Amino acid sequence: MTKKVNIIGAGLAGCEAAWQLALRGIEVEIFEMRDESRKTFAHRTSDCAELVCSNSLRSDDVTTAIGLLHEEMRRLNSLIMRAADANKIPAGSALAVDRAGFSNFIESELLTTKKVKITRREISELPIDSNEKWLIATGPLTSDLLSKSILKNSGEENLAFFDAIAPIIFKDSINFDVAWFQSRYDKGTGFDYVNCPLNRDQYLEFISDLNESEKSDFKDWEKDTPYFDGCLPIEVMASRGEDVLRYGPMKPVGLTNPHFPKSPEGTKFVDRKEKAYAIVQLRQDNKIGTLYNIVGFQTKLKYGEQQRIFRKIPGLENAEFARFGGIHRNTFLNSPKLLDAFLRFKKFPHISFAGQVTGVEGYVESASMGLMAGIFIASEIAEKKISAPTHKTAIGALLNHITLGHEGIDFQPMNVNFGLFDPLTEKVKKADRKTAYSERALEELASWKTLFEKEGGIA
Ligand SMILES: Cc1cc2nc3c(=O)[nH]c(=O)nc-3n(C[C@H](O)[C@H](O)[C@H](O)COP(=O)(O)OP(=O)(O)OC[C@H]3O[C@@H](n4cnc5c(N)ncnc54)[C@H](O)[C@@H]3O)c2cc1C
Repeated sequence: MTKKVNIIGAGLAGCEAAWQLALRGIEVEIFEMRDESRKTFAHRTSDCAELVCSNSLRSDDVTTAIGLLHEEMRRLNSLIMRAADANKIPAGSALAVDRAGFSNFIESELLTTKKVKITRREISELPIDSNEKWLIATGPLTSDLLSKSILKNSGEENLAFFDAIAPIIFKDSINFDVAWFQSRYDKGTGFDYVNCPLNRDQYLEFISDLNESEKSDFKDWEKDTPYFDGCLPIEVMASRGEDVLRYGPMKPVGLTNPHFPKSPEGTKFVDRKEKAYAIVQLRQDNKIGTLYNIVGFQTKLKYGEQQRIFRKIPGLENAEFARFGGIHRNTFLNSPKLLDAFLRFKKFPHISFAGQVTGVEGYVESASMGLMAGIFIASEIAEKKISAPTHKTAIGALLNHITLGHEGIDFQPMNVNFGLFDPLTEKVKKADRKTAYSERALEELASWKTLFEKEGGIA
């Protein structure tokens, strides 16, 4: 095997894998099909690791599964996490980033290694006859030709399903006589979210508008493709029951509307009817704070309908849209069946997979599988037999889920969550369980690093 690795896709996973390989002295060529003239349905730029929808990498609290994954990746020299930390913008306890700064940081760091070359070209066939090592990190929008080639060589019946994206609004078009800045429970700087209150009548009209709105048509190849439950369009949530949104992204808790008068004690609303029945939140989307995305409002409503209905939200009467929401297809393998424990294609082990195409869901989860693939490939090239992190760590639990942990029947993409971890063996009070999971994971990761280095790897 040569000491060069070819990576298809300069997304979150491909860039992280390239970094891990370059750190270990291995030459990498990344093939990326996006350039000045070609984009995908969701990508707007030709930038490395473009964040196609939300600019948030979700909670950075280490007692959440995703926050723990952040921390584990930091401890494994993740480029994606370093770029996120360097380009962080206010978002309460979430880790949100300036998109352009984040992408530029990644590309610049990769090129600075002098080990990484980025070639702008689509790879349309799975390189089954190559004698070089390949990593497929082509993400949810893997090009049609390559998807067909993967499908043909996997022997599976299909690779696709749906996600949806939320609209982005210009801040200076928001009416702050009605809306106000505040994070739930006052976490963060106080300016992280914009809140728009709805009373009961407004909320019910909103639900009815969503139910009666015109949705965009599905193309033939999209028909009968199911949604991922963690990314349901709001109109689908609305159709599931009047209160679903009020208990989901529009929940009116942890927020106090400064525009309403308060009782002399300053704690209760004078008129309880004025208390918000539901609240729409918008989160800062770029560093300079000119754009805000509507949190949880992924949708496939037609653009005209989005403008009509979302402008009925108090505070958004004059909203100008920088980007409307939309639907997209996802592409993922039946990984538990097709990949081995080190993310290699069982049929053609010189080909590995990483990122969302392996059936993890989300920016960070995708990058984390790029990180693991990079480490595994580097170890293989160095002819070191190494072990994977255990399922007590976030990264090991996720890896286990997509390779060995799931039965491979009706396999669905997964965000990281404590349900994937080995259960705690000692008795811990419910309130302390997340902390216990996190502490155990970080100790376990440290032991794995020590073992890994003893086995000859560089962690
Ligand atoms: C519309 C949409 C909205 C999303 N919203 C969110 C969100 O809000 N939060 C979240 O955490 N996740 C979201 N996701 C999921 C998110 O895209 C992924 O989690 C993440 O980008 C996956 O990283 P990746 O590296 O696997 O793929 P990507 O980041 O998509 O990178 C894959 C790269 O491969 C390139 N490529 C594809 N085929 C070829 C080929 N044949 N040859 C060469 N290059 C190729 C693509 O151009 C792309 O640059 C969303 C996905 C989509 C599509």
